[in-house]
Amino acid sequence: MDHFNYKDGALTAEDVPLETIAETVETPFYCYSQATIERHYQVFSEALTGLSATVCYAVKANSNLAVIRVLADMGAGADVVSSGELTRALAACVPADKIIFSGVGKTREELSHALQENILQINVESEPELALLDEVAGSLGLQASVALRINPDVDANTHDKIATGRQEDKFGIEWTRVHEVYARASQLPHINMVGLAIHIGSQLTDLDPFRNAFIRLRDIVAILKADGHEILRLDLGGGLGIPYDGSPTPTPSEYGRVVLETLGDIGIDLVFEPGRVIVGNAGLLVTRAVFVKESATRRFVITDAAMNDLMRPTLYDAKHDIQPVKEPQNGVNMENVDIVGPVCETGDTFATNYALPSMEAGDLLAIRTAGAYGAVMASTYNSRPLVPEVLVKEDRFSIIRERMTVDTMLEYENLPNWIK
Ligand SMILES: *Cc1c(COP(=O)(O)O)cnc(C)c1O
Repeated sequence: MDHFNYKDGALTAEDVPLETIAETVETPFYCYSQATIERHYQVFSEALTGLSATVCYAVKANSNLAVIRVLADMGAGADVVSSGELTRALAACVPADKIIFSGVGKTREELSHALQENILQINVESEPELALLDEVAGSLGLQASVALRINPDVDANTHDKIATGRQEDKFGIEWTRVHEVYARASQLPHINMVGLAIHIGSQLTDLDPFRNAFIRLRDIVAILKADGHEILRLDLGGGLGIPYDGSPTPTPSEYGRVVLETLGDIGIDLVFEPGRVIVGNAGLLVTRAVFVKESATRRFVITDAAMNDLMRPTLYDAKHDIQPVKEPQNGVNMENVDIVGPVCETGDTFATNYALPSMEAGDLLAIRTAGAYGAVMASTYNSRPLVPEVLVKEDRFSIIRERMTVDTMLEYENLPNWIK
């Protein structure tokens, strides 16, 4: 469910016509609906009723300060994967004791930053990281609260590039070795072991991989407890998928039921790290048709948005629904078009053979479900400035990130002193 609907013949975000925003900020731009973000957070939280659960929003899905702040105001914690994201989460008023630091390659500086901010927990993914963290904590005179991320060796049945819980993936410590590594970690003087973490992948549209991973986690907890370890916290990661093209996906409440069935009686605090499911449907990328071009066999709608603004189609073969901002009249003729960006790469394609009413240069289109892994993954390829982000609440909108300028890009560049 989202708050992007046609009203009086025009696509709106809550009560604001997208056309109005386009006139102010120009295109392309990302548009987020605050009510949608809030609703998704609420639905996810309610799905965990009956569990002792903390929801730490995965900031990497959409790290705009205002977006994190909306969630922090609803009580969300944060899951961060870099020093930069940690800085953002704190700047957005997420309490340090609700922040978790994940990631396979945290540097000495990042570990030190996390320790000095006294965050809830650092999820460690390897033995070298454990050793480094112990050393850094010792040098600061601090204790590090640590969960071991385990690789449960389950296939999430998602796109290859976002499956993270198979044995061959780079993430976590092999589950067969956790018993040994946990024992060794517990001996380290500046490490305080608090539990285990998993995250098996993103955009999961099947609940069985979750179920299998949670059962494996349960078995490992039993082994660790038999060894005399106290387990305070289990971090179950994120990964719940969302419908991009209308095909059904499991709901948060179905996901919550799997957690209840597998871990409901374990008596250990649970942490969840949802990203996509909170913000994915809450954002659109709005773009304008620059040209409509005919070839012998195809009709192309060439947009002012490109693969650098939204990488998901070219990176993950993702399909996004695309809607004209002007509501199509009933019974209008549809034609199949390819919707493509201006970048000189064939991968710069948002959709092929996509049915739209007849489009003209200047018409606006909304690329849906772009709130997660959209703006955060954008680049300046082709010297295209990062596009603005706009947040809507009821009948108001606010530019929560300005359009970058080419001058700003050039400010970061210098000629070497041997060129006069
Ligand atoms: C990316 C990531 C998440 C969020 O995944 P979603 O699919 O967006 O829910 C959560 N935890 C970790 C460790 C991640 O890397």
